[in-house]
Amino acid sequence: MPCVDDQGTLSTMPGLTIRKPLPCAKCGYDLNGLEARGRCPECGSDNIATLALRLDIAAEELTRSAALVRTAWALYLACAGSVLGCFIAVSPILKHAGTAVDLPAWLFSTLNKLSIAAPRIALFGTTIGLIGLLLVLPWDRRRPVRRARFFGSGGFLGWMFLSVQPPSYEIALMALAAIAMVVAALTPLLRELTPHSRFFSTARHATQSTRDLLIAAAVCAATGAVPLYLGQYLPADLDPTFDVALYSGIVAFSSAMFLVVGLGYRLVNAHWVLLSVRRPPPRLSEVLGE
Ligand SMILES: [Zn+2]
Repeated sequence: MPCVDDQGTLSTMPGLTIRKPLPCAKCGYDLNGLEARGRCPECGSDNIATLALRLDIAAEELTRSAALVRTAWALYLACAGSVLGCFIAVSPILKHAGTAVDLPAWLFSTLNKLSIAAPRIALFGTTIGLIGLLLVLPWDRRRPVRRARFFGSGGFLGWMFLSVQPPSYEIALMALAAIAMVVAALTPLLRELTPHSRFFSTARHATQSTRDLLIAAAVCAATGAVPLYLGQYLPADLDPTFDVALYSGIVAFSSAMFLVVGLGYRLVNAHWVLLSVRRPPPRLSEVLGE
């Protein structure tokens, strides 16, 4: 049984040839029909280096099925829905900015249009997230799938309900609970699919952890509530109060940005997983032959 080890060297019998279309990792030349131990006739790079790059030995033994592809699609839709759902906070922020700063007329009208469109974008996002988890995710009895469906759909339903309410900071803060629920619900799916994507397993620095997302949501909720509370129950002209409200607002805004960027990262991660599950790399035994 031929295999490529960690260093990308081929420990196998001599004379094995590549018997599938396999573009050279360096120049893209098709290595089909050439010896595995040989070199690319175009650029001279080692064919074994290409094999080590194009194949995913670690994922060879994993089952590939239609249900797996559907799970990856469901994860992708839920992640995309989460990013779009964040538009729920855009209207109150823009309204605030519009009243606080004197804007040129064209910019004001552009922001106004965005402000009107934002809740619809959020509603669209939460709908596709819900469709992903309710209809696309296979009806599987396994616990991670059941949990993802139950909590994820619950989170998206709440998020959808909030998207159709008149936009406000209070609504945006309430949506954080739904966001946290969805984020936590998707984690078991992500954990299950991660081994299928070699790119995901190797690009650890670019993967988004659930813990960071949940912390960002919690900090945003806690600090975001302070200015709302102070604005409602205490006189606004009290200077120390104003400072506290301002700083809390800044922290809330920063954590919200962190959360949005984190959800964007997670969408990219889900995209990698979907790509590798839809088109898995060929198995070594299919590529090499006598
Ligand atoms: Zn080449």
